[in-house]
Amino acid sequence: MHSWLSSHLNQPTNSNSPTAHPVIPPSSSPAMPGKVIIIGGGCFGLSTALELVKGEYKGHGNLITVLDRSSTPPAADAASSDYNKIVRQDYCDETWAKLASEAIREWSTPEWAPYFAQSGVLVLSQTSHAVGAAYVRNAYNVNSHPSMALDGRLAVNLPTPSAIKGVFGNDALSTAEFTNEVAYINPQSGWALARRAMDMVCEQVRKAGVRVMGGEVDSLMYDSKGGKKDVTGVRLVDGRSFSADKVVVAAGSWSAKFLPEIGKELLASGQAVAHIQLTPEEAAEYAHVPVVFRMDTGFYIFPPTPDGIVKFAIHGPGWINPTSHNGHPIPSIPKEGHYRLPQEAIQALKINLANTYPELAKKEWFETRLCWCVVLPSLFTPRNPLKKQVLRVPLE
Ligand SMILES: Cc1cc2nc3c(=O)[nH]c(=O)nc-3n(C[C@H](O)[C@H](O)[C@H](O)COP(=O)(O)OP(=O)(O)OC[C@H]3O[C@@H](n4cnc5c(N)ncnc54)[C@H](O)[C@@H]3O)c2cc1C
Repeated sequence: MHSWLSSHLNQPTNSNSPTAHPVIPPSSSPAMPGKVIIIGGGCFGLSTALELVKGEYKGHGNLITVLDRSSTPPAADAASSDYNKIVRQDYCDETWAKLASEAIREWSTPEWAPYFAQSGVLVLSQTSHAVGAAYVRNAYNVNSHPSMALDGRLAVNLPTPSAIKGVFGNDALSTAEFTNEVAYINPQSGWALARRAMDMVCEQVRKAGVRVMGGEVDSLMYDSKGGKKDVTGVRLVDGRSFSADKVVVAAGSWSAKFLPEIGKELLASGQAVAHIQLTPEEAAEYAHVPVVFRMDTGFYIFPPTPDGIVKFAIHGPGWINPTSHNGHPIPSIPKEGHYRLPQEAIQALKINLANTYPELAKKEWFETRLCWCVVLPSLFTPRNPLKKQVLRVPLE
């Protein structure tokens, strides 16, 4: 790390002191890339840092600083900090499906394969749910097209209940009967060990010289000279301030705090998640099941992690937390420390779990959380079956 950068970042200044700005001096050479601050060390912030040090900032990682509320990002309540996440190309939008296909190719490389399980994703909906069923059919059409084949494999239609039951890899497993469903399985999709993969990304960017540090950003600093409003750095809640040539806001569902102008577009929605701990014997029974993702109710459930943890959740109706920051109203940002699920969410999870794996529905849950992610109201397409379900329900 350049000594000037490390010394300045190691010695936080109080923004009220006359020596507060600039903390980081301007670039000494026009050929040098500028200094970058990334707010947020979640999936997007750390991936941005990784991409920069592989490209334009190769050999200049020390010009990049990732600031996060946690000194070991992602923070425990970040969306990216999770046992697992679905990695699926099962969208009915071709562009999204192709992007996801590229991601799956990357996940399958030796570098990332240890964090990726290509379990397949079973995508289904009750035929009576018009929008959900249409989504399944459209996503199948996209994902069964020969251009989407990875390793020669494509989405497989499952036209009967027995065909659906056949994908669970264990005839003795107690599952739903799956009558009146439209369904397919995509063997290319799967899931990732989310937190562990993020820890690896964090390690890689640190090795490349990127400074990853704890520090809660309060606001962006602006220079409004010449009628042009430029972001010049960030101010932290503890009074420190850091200057940079470029500031990347990657604060996930907290981003509206810094960008109140587009707060309505960055609506944080709390999604209900719960977990069950399996015994080693139970984990072996469920070891070869795919991710199950329902397009009618938004329910999804994972195979067990290597530690026997089964995560299940509902993607759809969310809970919001309207607040204000520095005098600006914010339609919703995460309610921190809120792990108790609303009753309505508990009921929906229970019903969906019993309708998928009746035996698992008898087990106790060991952890629940509202996991916050941004929903972009203006990006919802008419083909998104969950569009109408996003509830603007204030969190109690
Ligand atoms: C319940 C749930 C399930 C999901 N399932 C899937 C899935 O299966 N597959 C999938 O692909 N995607 C899934 N997603 C979406 C995915 O998790 C998110 O798109 C992704 O993790 C967002 O990453 P991020 O970096 O934008 O935000 P986050 O991971 O939330 O990270 C934001 C970071 O910013 C930091 N931060 C916030 N405010 C400040 C501040 N003031 N100063 C400094 N740092 C700050 C936070 O501490 C945090 O570490 C899911 C999301 C949720 C909520």
